[in-house]
Amino acid sequence: MARAIVMFGPPGSGKGTQAVLLADALGLPHVSTGDIFRAHVQQGSELGLQVRAILNSGGLVPDELVNRIVEERLARPDCAGGFILDGYPRTLPQAQWLGGWLGERGFEQVVVNLEVDSEIIVGRIGARRQCPRCGASYNLVFNPPKNGAVCDRDQTPLITRPDDQEAVVRQRFQAYARQTAPLLGYFRDTARRFHDVDGATGGPDGIARRIVELVRQG
Ligand SMILES: [Zn+2]
Repeated sequence: MARAIVMFGPPGSGKGTQAVLLADALGLPHVSTGDIFRAHVQQGSELGLQVRAILNSGGLVPDELVNRIVEERLARPDCAGGFILDGYPRTLPQAQWLGGWLGERGFEQVVVNLEVDSEIIVGRIGARRQCPRCGASYNLVFNPPKNGAVCDRDQTPLITRPDDQEAVVRQRFQAYARQTAPLLGYFRDTARRFHDVDGATGGPDGIARRIVELVRQG
């Protein structure tokens, strides 16, 4: 049975990284709605023009339009054997539409909820540094600069980007938790396969291996 894997995880949880690793390990396409939206807007497709007009006016893209864009992608031949959804669904009506669409086509829905404590995310993102001159990115834990607090290329003192400030990271985490709680509740109640996965231990490859095992258990 072809599987539709739906990935959830707060900003900073490594959800995008996991989606890519899973796509590789399972040989399935990684369907990122963020990427699809950007591609439509860049190509100036009919859907892209609609999305851009809505976003430019400060509005939210309606569920019906988001669903149409996703449907167009999922109907392509490379998705016939299954796929990994990243960034969708975001609302209850989107989740309900997706459930119906998958059910009609005989896909098995597997929901993966990557759990990472907010303190760990604050720590991970708080360790990011950037060079204000050349834009090089560092992480004091995973990818530290050679000379303490300055850029390897041009010796400019590194800064923390405004987006990575602790208060901003906490706000994003809380907004995600608020918006996603009803969706996760819906999936917990309705999805036959719902997996909470520890996204904080074992490193990216170890976490991906655990998810692959869970998905393959069937
Ligand atoms: Zn630099």
